Amino acid sequence: MTTPRPGAADHTRAADLLAARVPSTLAPLARLAFNYRWSWWAGADAVFRDIDPHRWERSGANPVRLLQEVPFSALERLAADEAAVRRIVDLDLAITHELSQPDDDAVIPADRPVAFFCAEYGVHSSLPIYSGGLGVLAGDLVKAASDLRLPFVGVGLFYRQGYFRQRLDTTGYQHEYWIENDPQRLPVALVTGDDGEPLTVEVRVWGRPVRVQVWRVDVGTVPLYLLDTELPENERIDRWITARLYVGDRQLRLAQYAVLGLGGIRALRAMGIEPSIVHMNEGHAALAPLELVAPGVAGGTDFTDALAGARRRTVFTTHTPVAAGNEMYDPAEITRVLYALPKHLGTDMETLLALGRVHPDQAGEPSGLTPLGLRVAGSSNGVSRRHGEVARSMWQPLHPELAPDEVPIAHITNGVHQPTWMADPMRRLLDAHLGEGWERRADDPATWEPVLDIPDADLWAVRCEQRTHLVEYIRARTVSDRLARGEPLEYAERSHLAFNPDDIVVGFARRLAAYKRLHLLGSDTVQSLDLLAEGRPLQLVIAGKAHPQDEDAKRLMQSLYRLKSAPNVAERVAFIEDYGMAQARPLVSGCDVWLNLPRPPLEASGTSGMKAVMNGGLHLSVLDGWWAEAYGHRDGVPNGWAIDGGEDPDHAAQDARHAQQLYELLASDVLPLFHQRDERGVPVRWVQMMKASLVMLCPRFTAARMLHDYVQVYAGALEPSA
Ligand SMILES: *Cc1c(COP(=O)(O)O)cnc(C)c1O
Repeated sequence: MTTPRPGAADHTRAADLLAARVPSTLAPLARLAFNYRWSWWAGADAVFRDIDPHRWERSGANPVRLLQEVPFSALERLAADEAAVRRIVDLDLAITHELSQPDDDAVIPADRPVAFFCAEYGVHSSLPIYSGGLGVLAGDLVKAASDLRLPFVGVGLFYRQGYFRQRLDTTGYQHEYWIENDPQRLPVALVTGDDGEPLTVEVRVWGRPVRVQVWRVDVGTVPLYLLDTELPENERIDRWITARLYVGDRQLRLAQYAVLGLGGIRALRAMGIEPSIVHMNEGHAALAPLELVAPGVAGGTDFTDALAGARRRTVFTTHTPVAAGNEMYDPAEITRVLYALPKHLGTDMETLLALGRVHPDQAGEPSGLTPLGLRVAGSSNGVSRRHGEVARSMWQPLHPELAPDEVPIAHITNGVHQPTWMADPMRRLLDAHLGEGWERRADDPATWEPVLDIPDADLWAVRCEQRTHLVEYIRARTVSDRLARGEPLEYAERSHLAFNPDDIVVGFARRLAAYKRLHLLGSDTVQSLDLLAEGRPLQLVIAGKAHPQDEDAKRLMQSLYRLKSAPNVAERVAFIEDYGMAQARPLVSGCDVWLNLPRPPLEASGTSGMKAVMNGGLHLSVLDGWWAEAYGHRDGVPNGWAIDGGEDPDHAAQDARHAQQLYELLASDVLPLFHQRDERGVPVRWVQMMKASLVMLCPRFTAARMLHDYVQVYAGALEPSA
């Protein structure tokens, strides 16, 4: 059976319009462009890139824009190239065939899919509606749902300006700018109703009606429905609700949550989708289960009873182990934004506020989305074993009668989508050793055992190939970044000579939140510079965005940046601007060592290290998040490096200790092992560690394993209650 997918006809129409722009033999390109399935099909991006490599890069790897902008003469040339046309037709046939297979409705009924709600989705760099790990995880999960043919739909917001873009100035200070996400240039289509008009739903925000329209994006078999308030009939302020991801204004953020949660369920209903499960990925969607009760209440059921019914089919994943990350709102703020909600739900504001309070009986206490999510979900989980523990003790006050370890928050450790994050050289090597169809068995540990028999020199050759690609990328990017910033030509040129493809490359890239502790890298300048010195130098690549309002993080970047004139820094340290999925791919595939330095226990999971590991990178991290359950040995060989993960209220002392541990690991272990070569030039011990890491970690930290775990939870929720 096939999951109902409203908006499919609208989507096909949009693809047909694009197809009409290209020579008829190239029409399949338009169909390919309109489903992100191409983005994780091995080699498919080359089909677009080869049309016009320069424009492909300039389009941000956006095939719709490419086909709109490439000169017709180039398309005519392509249409005359029989081999190229055959490649396009074959790819289209293969993808169309895969997408037409029926969904697997063994657990989830195909006519009642799982509705997955998230405020951000990192599906691809060309659709910039994500900020970091949460969104990329959501994108990876959606892709895994397509791979597994799970009846699944995604619900999110269509941010007209997305997340900010980053540019540094010559002092290293971050500036933000926004670029319009023009739906005409994206593989999206407005969902229309039976009357052929755009389908809209209404959400009352600030007591007044706001109209919401729905864009559809196809991610394999999964439709993503993205809500949008940019409609001329809405007031200016209301049109701004879906303008930007994580706006600074608290009222606007609450309005976004109302549109996502309440509007999302209403939109699904208007499209005829009645989900079997509502999965809220993080608290932003926590209002969705409230809207689930509305029809019952309208039919005469009491609010509390209706909510109990909705609860049974609601799953909540919390990602935030930091109190500050769990936004709390004063009753007045909530009342202003959600003024109309209690009446709609047949209850009163005080009841709703109490659902979001840690102490329901303390009127006046602020309410938060995480307590609300935990209360309205039948099943809740954190995103790593350690985060599960942290979340249970953090939210124990919600269950004063329970001991912390009895608090009903389980854990499902995150995983990453291997076809998205593994680079081609690594994939080709594994194709040769892991057997036919290994990617479909990638979450089975047995699949990875043959890695142990790959000749060391072959595995090392792939590592060197991927590092070389990264070095080429760093050279190109740093020259243009430095020139764009206004640096002198000589300084920009030094990065062109920079980065030797034979020397080790260490990477650190993620959102620059304080707890991620980028500052540990420069806290002892003498030691840090020592590592960059001639002989056996370390090369460091850094990337990440600071939140626009996080002045401390911006100042920190600036203070590290001041080291640029110190010896070797211009040649051996690179900051890649505007970190996003397009920048993450070369970084995670090319780095030999991937660093993560969170302040424990604040890293809920972390996922970039998993991406590095599946590319043969070795992880060096504080024992927090996923690494606390992943670090270990195989036959005495460690699968990476660990810094102690204990908590310490004295942050300064902890920082000093961790910086020292990091330095010692790099100087006394990482660098010597990298240079300990046999007669063929292979670092044998290093390759053993790579093998231990691949075999132990790849099967466990994939999105397929994560989704299988969620399916178990869904199945439990769907069991008829006794
Ligand atoms: C994977 C990823 C992240 C998450 O990184 P963490 O290690 O979890 O901090 C953030 N941003 C991008 C672009 C990613 O691809």
